[in-house]
Amino acid sequence: MTQIAFIGLGNMGGGMCQNLVKAGHQVHAFDLNANAIAKVVEAGAIAAGSVAEAVKDADAVVTMLPAGKHVKSVYLGDDGILSAAKPGAVLLDCSTIAVEDARETAHAATDASFLMVDAPVSGGTAAADAGTLTFMVGGSEDAFNAAKPVLEVMGQKIVHAGASGNGQVAKIANNMLLGISMIGTAEAFNLAESLGLDAQTFFDISSTASGQCWSMTSYCPAPGPVETAPSNREYRPGFAVDMMLKDLRLAANAANSADVESPLGAMAEQIYAALSESGHGGLDFSGVILRLKKEL
Ligand code: NAD
Repeated sequence: MTQIAFIGLGNMGGGMCQNLVKAGHQVHAFDLNANAIAKVVEAGAIAAGSVAEAVKDADAVVTMLPAGKHVKSVYLGDDGILSAAKPGAVLLDCSTIAVEDARETAHAATDASFLMVDAPVSGGTAAADAGTLTFMVGGSEDAFNAAKPVLEVMGQKIVHAGASGNGQVAKIANNMLLGISMIGTAEAFNLAESLGLDAQTFFDISSTASGQCWSMTSYCPAPGPVETAPSNREYRPGFAVDMMLKDLRLAANAANSADVESPLGAMAEQIYAALSESGHGGLDFSGVILRLKKEL
């Protein structure tokens, strides 16, 4: 049994923390929200009153926080992880944050003699609950090897993407492609249907032709062809528009600071921002097809 601290017990962190408890680890859990702590305590975790209390005896510290500002304050702030954790502990940040924030935090951790990885996830709350997440991991070989046994409890695919920050690079580049490909798929289905070709027939042709992609075969934005897709449950997420928008904004900022052109990424960001601003941020991101159909 390893002593683990878990900070950030929200939609994702709650299930991930419970999987560590189920695997027999002693988990000291902290969140600003008392209800979130109570939920994991019911499952066998131990409540901590602060970040410092949670991490003081931990061999591994896992964080799953909303954004970079939360990660930086929890790691670098007074009584934060770097000042309160046990020397030699491995630190795993699983939040999706900016590449620069991940690298800055990891460098501070390394300077303080900790091993640290950025390990953002692919897969939503169902995968977090089931322990089937994919982790994209950035950090040294030593940090990766130390983090891997903890990640294996919470996920089924653990990929070492290279140095610190590379996990976040993989995450935002993948999600930028996903955001773009979903809009392209929605445009194609809308065009085909508007010209008299029904969604199922177009799917049968295109899903085995050169237009095939994940947005079509796993998450088809047109209702019908893919039974499990959000389009068959009134576009309830799934992966919400606001989550996609967060990742596209991270990708756009990273592209800007690296002086890289990504015109379609920028356009996808504008399209999801318009959906969000019109009150549809909670809709699954495949619901972008409703905007093309002028139903939103
Ligand atoms: P969430 O808002 O449900 O949970 C975040 C938790 O962190 C909250 O319970 C909040 O109280 C807590 N928190 C915030 N600041 C804190 C602090 N200073 N100290 C302690 N606790 C603090 O968010 P989520 O949906 O669980 O997402 C977490 C991360 O995972 C995000 O970076 C998100 O982009 C990423 N992610 C989410 C999904 C998804 O489907 N929800 C999928 C992939 C990645």
